[in-house]
Amino acid sequence: MTVEEQVNVINKESHDMSLCLSQEERKKGRGPLLVSQPLTPLKPKEAAKEAEESVIIMEDEEPAVEDASVTEEHSVTNPKKSESVESTSDYMSDTESEGGTVRKRKSSLTETELLAGSTVSDMEMTEEDERRLLEEVPSPARTTTSRTTTSAVVHRLSNVTMSDIEGTVRGRRSSGSSQGTTFTSGTVGSEKTKRRNDQRRRKKERERALEAARGVANRPSSESRISHTVGSKPTGSSKGELVRKLKETGAPDLDILSAVQELKHRKKALEEEIAKVAPKEPEFNRVKMEELLKRRFFFMQSFAIYGGVAGLFDLGPMGCAMKANILHEWRQFFILEEGMLEIDCPVLTPEPVLMASGHVERFSDFMVKDVKSGECFRLDHLIKANLEKISVDKKTDSSLKDECRDMLNKLDGMNVEEMTAILRRFAMKSPTTGSEVSDPCEFNLMFGTQIGPSGDHKGYLRPETAQGMFVNFKKLLEFNQGRLPFAAAQIGDAFRNEISPRSGLIRVREFTMAEIEHFCDPLDKSHPKFSSVSDVLLTLYSACDQMDGNPPKQIPIGEAVKSGLVANETLGYFIVRIYQFLIRVGVDPLRLRFRQHMSNEMAHYACDCWDAEIKTSYGWVECVGCADRSAFDLTQHSKASNTRLYAERKLAEPRTETRMTILPNKAVIGKTFQKDASVLIGKLRAMEQEEVRFLAKEMEVNGEAPVDLGRLGNAAKVFRVTKDMVSFKEAEEKVFVDEFVPSVIEPSFGIGRIMYSILEHNFRTREDDDLRGFFTLPPTIAPVKCSVLPLSGNDEFVPYIKQIRDSLRYAGVSHRVDDSSGSIGRRYARTDEIAIPFGVTVDFDTVNIKPPSVTLRERDSTQQVRIPIAELAETVRDLSDGKLSWKDVEGKYPKFEAQKSEEDRKKAKGEK
Ligand code: AMP
Repeated sequence: MTVEEQVNVINKESHDMSLCLSQEERKKGRGPLLVSQPLTPLKPKEAAKEAEESVIIMEDEEPAVEDASVTEEHSVTNPKKSESVESTSDYMSDTESEGGTVRKRKSSLTETELLAGSTVSDMEMTEEDERRLLEEVPSPARTTTSRTTTSAVVHRLSNVTMSDIEGTVRGRRSSGSSQGTTFTSGTVGSEKTKRRNDQRRRKKERERALEAARGVANRPSSESRISHTVGSKPTGSSKGELVRKLKETGAPDLDILSAVQELKHRKKALEEEIAKVAPKEPEFNRVKMEELLKRRFFFMQSFAIYGGVAGLFDLGPMGCAMKANILHEWRQFFILEEGMLEIDCPVLTPEPVLMASGHVERFSDFMVKDVKSGECFRLDHLIKANLEKISVDKKTDSSLKDECRDMLNKLDGMNVEEMTAILRRFAMKSPTTGSEVSDPCEFNLMFGTQIGPSGDHKGYLRPETAQGMFVNFKKLLEFNQGRLPFAAAQIGDAFRNEISPRSGLIRVREFTMAEIEHFCDPLDKSHPKFSSVSDVLLTLYSACDQMDGNPPKQIPIGEAVKSGLVANETLGYFIVRIYQFLIRVGVDPLRLRFRQHMSNEMAHYACDCWDAEIKTSYGWVECVGCADRSAFDLTQHSKASNTRLYAERKLAEPRTETRMTILPNKAVIGKTFQKDASVLIGKLRAMEQEEVRFLAKEMEVNGEAPVDLGRLGNAAKVFRVTKDMVSFKEAEEKVFVDEFVPSVIEPSFGIGRIMYSILEHNFRTREDDDLRGFFTLPPTIAPVKCSVLPLSGNDEFVPYIKQIRDSLRYAGVSHRVDDSSGSIGRRYARTDEIAIPFGVTVDFDTVNIKPPSVTLRERDSTQQVRIPIAELAETVRDLSDGKLSWKDVEGKYPKFEAQKSEEDRKKAKGEK
């Protein structure tokens, strides 16, 4: 079967599955019984390339178990722990966190959960199907089809896990291209062993494919089918839905119970089958990548020569340049394209601001302490790790496993009582000493400090940049000529005293955030540009699907907003923009999803909240939060600061209102309250109509009333206002505008997490040199854009190198010259390690042929063209800015095949 043919099979299988017809119905020519998300068929060329690449991947998969070197190489991926164990390590604390406590926060979801949520549609398998499957199973000479078939079987089995599975397949294929592979191939001891193992593996795969096909064929159909309709709620066949339906129709308890049991068993059996045939997760060698990141100084632990501090990292030259490029793209993508107003506020924040925002009271995680060592562990992480362990333990019975998975799914939405019950039910212990752990207590994550020498002004290092934008709302609105909607943006560092910082840049104590506060009218959350993105298909993991144990679905954002799954257009618009940005900077779209907060997880004032989660070797990690925070923040700051943080909505027709105004008696107030008088007068003037009327009534009845000024300095102040201090006037007024507190939609980006995810998703090794890793970072993000390499140390090259450097500098292209003595291949490999996307080589043709030209090499394909020096700088600049593609360059300049070494040249010239 040719590559093109295989591609057709892939596309056909995908398409067939998207219709999900039972054999019976297909024969009858009926329409689709179940509709799953059809996969976007690969374009023949793209797909051909992917399929071609899968041949290479096949060689890397499932290493020979007998071969010690292979096994060892694979185990290097995660030296101490398996992935689930790795995530287990998340609850470990460092000694510094002693005495700390906890704000209940989200934890990322793992593969186990994803699998737990997998649902499967029944397919009846005929002998014909079986035979066809077998035919597609590879002969030793057709290794590619094996992957195709496996994916096809999985596809047939599951309409739900398909996007994940397909994602994995594609991930593997693309990263295993002829230019390199992400996956660690074992160092196979001998060709013979390799062949033997290959044969065994293929045989196993064939058996599995058949087994899976048979298993499915034998399953009963109809009522237990679990479908996923694009853009709509499950059509009554998900576990939750079915049970709900039975309940609704008043079915006897026994029926409901047996339906649940039946569904559970069948789901589990099918999941096992899927697991058997599903392609493995792309093998990513974190140790290798981390070694490279450290060696080439992208980033490393801070204060390392003093032993390091957990949760603090230094960025080296490559990390700095990469971060600056990500932020540059962010500014272009959001601030420039959306016309946002950027501001820059201090890190040091006075206590009253964070009191009003609720951080002083509530910005905490729950933690438990090892009763013997005093070591602290984040409660949700400890529970997650334990439940994951229990749910994969062979000794755990299947119903407990199901229960654990269910608890894991719901963990993010649990309160402390529910978590404590789980902690105690499973007698969870300290993971380091095995001792008992204390009852959970709360630990505020903010770093407190004093502002000024007197100690009178308590402050904190800001835990987010958002508050700076809220407190500046009035000025920003003025700047925007009083018009809504508008968005403010801020990039800056935030500080959180994490209980257990770990997982590299993923959970740290100081990190850069890029935040947006989009202020809009609560009565109109439409977005003028929404129609331009409404067709964008996103992987959405709704709160409902999390609760029901279903996997995420692919839904166009237009439908998600229309159906009410996503609260409004503006929120939907930003979710898409986040998605587009993340892909632009190098995140793999197949490892990106949006997870909705569950009701308990979401702040009480928020309408809706979605996290952009990226899948890394640490599991699914929240990298961007996107919430509709309603009017909470501005209301709080309005109250606490006695400043009207309002906007106005013009009325279509003016209306007449009877308004009551307070007239403060300044002399009496001044005498009574002295330096605080002006604050009180401000508060009285800023009062809402209801407050004014309430005060007037109190004066009439009691002759006095308390007026709460919130906090003044560090102290709370309530003033006793008496009758002689105020008078009231009522008058008819013509009102032209309605005043309201704007709603806020807040996308909040963690730059470190995004940066780490990009690095993971772009880490590769060359097929012919898997010792050397490299990064396929998009040119816009790459720390350095171009390398300049003289072919050798020949003096004739020197003036050309200078000329090229000058022209690159003039064009603003960052570059590095490597004139060391290594071979050109070796030097290219070095530049690949730091992700330099373009390489220029000066060779003898540069010197000998006029006009002088050089070779220009592209990192990922390693292809080269010959380009005149005069056109070089501009071309590399446009390539680096993403204005020109490598394909454009290949179309314009002649391809270059091989560098002539100095020896070749001498030989050709007959020199010695
Ligand atoms: P939050 O305000 O908690 O929703 O966080 C907003 C974003 O900041 C998250 O999506 C993360 O990308 C990032 N973030 C939060 N906490 C940390 C941390 N401890 N280390 C690194 N990034 C973080």
